[in-house]
Amino acid sequence: MKPASIVYSIRPSHPEAHIFEVRCTLANADPSGQRFSLPAWIPGSYLIRDFVRHIVSIRAEAAGKPVRLDKIDKHSWQAMPTGKKRSALTVICEVYAWDLSVRGAHLDQTHAFFNGSSVFLRALGHEHLLCLVDIQRPLGKRYRDWRVATALASAEGEKGAADRHGFGVYRAANYAELIDHPVEMGGFTLATFSACGVPQEVVISGRHDCDLARLTADLTRLCEWQIRFFGEPAPMPHYLFLITAIGDGYGGLEHRASTALLCARDDLPYPGMQGTPERYRTFLGLCSHEYFHSWNIKRIRPAAFSACDLDAENYTTLLWAFEGFTSYYDDLALLRCGLIEPEEWLGLVARTIDKVLRDPGRKRQTLAESSFDAWTKFYRPDENTPNAVVSYYAKGALVALALDLRLRAGTRNRVSLDDVMRALWLRHGERAGYGGVGVGDDDIRLLAEELSGLDLAQFFAAAIHGTSELALAPLLKPFGIQMLRQNASTTPTLGAKISTDGREVRLATVYAGSPAQTAGLSAGDLLIAIDGLRVTPDSLERLLCRRQAGESIRIVAFRRDELMEFSLRLESPASDKHQLVVKEKRNVLREGWLGVMTSRDTASSSES
Ligand SMILES: [Zn+2]
Repeated sequence: MKPASIVYSIRPSHPEAHIFEVRCTLANADPSGQRFSLPAWIPGSYLIRDFVRHIVSIRAEAAGKPVRLDKIDKHSWQAMPTGKKRSALTVICEVYAWDLSVRGAHLDQTHAFFNGSSVFLRALGHEHLLCLVDIQRPLGKRYRDWRVATALASAEGEKGAADRHGFGVYRAANYAELIDHPVEMGGFTLATFSACGVPQEVVISGRHDCDLARLTADLTRLCEWQIRFFGEPAPMPHYLFLITAIGDGYGGLEHRASTALLCARDDLPYPGMQGTPERYRTFLGLCSHEYFHSWNIKRIRPAAFSACDLDAENYTTLLWAFEGFTSYYDDLALLRCGLIEPEEWLGLVARTIDKVLRDPGRKRQTLAESSFDAWTKFYRPDENTPNAVVSYYAKGALVALALDLRLRAGTRNRVSLDDVMRALWLRHGERAGYGGVGVGDDDIRLLAEELSGLDLAQFFAAAIHGTSELALAPLLKPFGIQMLRQNASTTPTLGAKISTDGREVRLATVYAGSPAQTAGLSAGDLLIAIDGLRVTPDSLERLLCRRQAGESIRIVAFRRDELMEFSLRLESPASDKHQLVVKEKRNVLREGWLGVMTSRDTASSSES
């Protein structure tokens, strides 16, 4: 007997109006009134987005007759009770799709992209059922050549099962899996490669001139390094890089067997390209980040995400480990698989240090708090965010670096963060035949202590639950790396972040405790003049660079439509630039921290 299933269909019914028609048919609807709802958020992006706001029409029917559907809260409906017997029920809705991001759905005459969380209703009480999805081609000649790219499996054995990259029926084991496989339809570019025997696909939609041979060669090295890092076999049977290339854009979202990426077409490698330009290196870093998530968050999860509630915020204090550690390893993987040089990698770390030390928010919020409050703070930035919030990505990556160095230094390089990640995978990860155990608040510290024999209580208390500065310089020194500070500029500062449209100069953020704040200036103020001379994007630096810290200046500014005058005492420039310099190259290599010389890596490297 076939297992019970829930049947969906999706069709771009009006591409020019950005409308999908989506159907959901349930054979055994709840006779007391079946409920349906759409997720309030998409896993991986911690913000309530209320995707339901894009449902523009909805109706239900049974046996060809309309069934009343009542809306019961902002994202749920209930069908009229059908008496005692369970019967088949179909809900048909139209979904507006015009969000060109990796989190939503987008449709026009050139392509279709969707995440299941934007389009597929969840039949409450039936989330565990097998899902069949009929992905249908839009009507019309112009869509004749469209294909389908997704990591969803074809519903082999079912009527109308999709061929590879074809329209037709796909399957997912349950609702959670259904919404974890984004889908692209269109006339995309397709390239394939294999990493440790696992088939990998790259799909690029949008105009581009990508050198596919270069991209797949680089991704092969990267993916193989990551698979070997956690240990073969890879947990995903296949993997898809689903790339949308546009004029300008950047974003990525991780899924269990794919990632949706948005990039500028100029980020992609082009035929004849020399070396690895910064834009392409950043793109490879993004690919690396999302691929690393295949383990670190998709299969090694915070305990709080074990039973994921799609209706409301899910709180964890651990995003510093899942996003921050992933941010540490994304660029480190590029180095360790040979795609970038050690000096380049150190430059990227220095940039992260600059970023964390620039914003006063690091003195207000701990990493545990930043993780917990991601929903209301990190994902909802405003003019005061730099003063109030610390990034669990950036500071989390520096904590990973600090912990890695601490472990290596404290164990004569016997234990590193690599070992902690592997142990997390072996003990907590969801692998074949093993469901995985959620990671609790103290599990990472306990694991690091167990493996190293070190007492790390103080380290974690300060780094995760405190706001003191991370002491990186003394940790780097034994590895032959010197951390240098230099002022980025000698021009005295107002202590504000400036935004300009090319004509006007506005204050975007006024830093806490800065001269601008003390003088009474606020975010949004439009600067008009300094000491009687007009402020323009060009003149601001010139007006300030001839002054000294400690001097007072008069600023005239508009707040809304009211002209105001301020007296401000300039300060020395605060934003230090950091540089990480290799002082003793042999030392770095001997210690093996940069990973290029250790026997373990050499043994598993894909270099040929
Ligand atoms: Zn991430």
